[in-house]
Amino acid sequence: MNSKLRPTTTPPESPPVLAQRRPYRVMEHVSNLLFVLMHLALLLVFVVPVSGKVLALALGGYALRMWAVTAGYHRYFAHRSYKTSRAFQLVLAMLGAMSMQNGPLWWASTHRRHHKYSDTPRDPHSPVPRGFWYAHLGWNFDRWRPAPDERSNVRDLSRFPELVYVDSHEWIFIVTYAFICLAIGGAAGVVWGFVVSTLAVFHATMCINSLAHVWGSRRYATGDESRNNGLLAILTFGEGWHNNHHHAMHTARQGFYWWEVDFTYYTLRVLAALGIIWGLREPSAAVLAGQRVASDGSEMPS
Ligand SMILES: [Zn+2]
Ligand SMILES: [Zn+2]
Repeated sequence: MNSKLRPTTTPPESPPVLAQRRPYRVMEHVSNLLFVLMHLALLLVFVVPVSGKVLALALGGYALRMWAVTAGYHRYFAHRSYKTSRAFQLVLAMLGAMSMQNGPLWWASTHRRHHKYSDTPRDPHSPVPRGFWYAHLGWNFDRWRPAPDERSNVRDLSRFPELVYVDSHEWIFIVTYAFICLAIGGAAGVVWGFVVSTLAVFHATMCINSLAHVWGSRRYATGDESRNNGLLAILTFGEGWHNNHHHAMHTARQGFYWWEVDFTYYTLRVLAALGIIWGLREPSAAVLAGQRVASDGSEMPS
């Protein structure tokens, strides 16, 4: 073939290793469109009247759902770092579903893959092979990313039909939360309590996928780029101690020392004292003393 007749466009980049394009889902495109529209709706904060009531609603909605993501979706469903009753497990699932981060099974499945393939091309959201913005936002829209295959690695959760129901109908809980905001604060309640608060929870959570793998210090030689970051730990109620977490992912406590603030862990201790949860998994002395990175940042041989 004459080289002048060859198409000048370059072929699309190969998908990540073992990636599989997910099937077309209409609802996925609808939710992507809503996600973009919600960001545009942020401009309404300049239109609706602001009051102490709607600001409190926004902060309360942030605190409740950020907690549900960290204590429920992350430390309970993804890592099983404590035990609880079937009823409270369902409460955690429903509160988490209000955060607009998909259902508990999907979240746990994706996150377990993040730990299993951390910072490799098979990691669903790593800034190392794919860049910061892919890890923060792009992966949410990427139909080429490793197929979620939601329930293959969460069979411990999918045996509960009520959790499967919440996972498949998470929109019910998002809409319910939006109506609660409307009932409390009218249009301003929706803008501040739902739009602003939900996007704040979303981006704070995504910062753990993106920033917590590039910005901060590394204590443990985890074989990935996870970092400890105090600012992110405050914003996310303890999730910023991400290098600690990659070192010991099954412990309920992520701030290992008293100065590593971990609000979620403190609340879990209260719930354990009340008998609502139990079997809280703590980092052992051996875990705390685990293999450190060298002073030059390299990982020392074991
Ligand atoms: Zn991570
Ligand atoms: Zn984790």
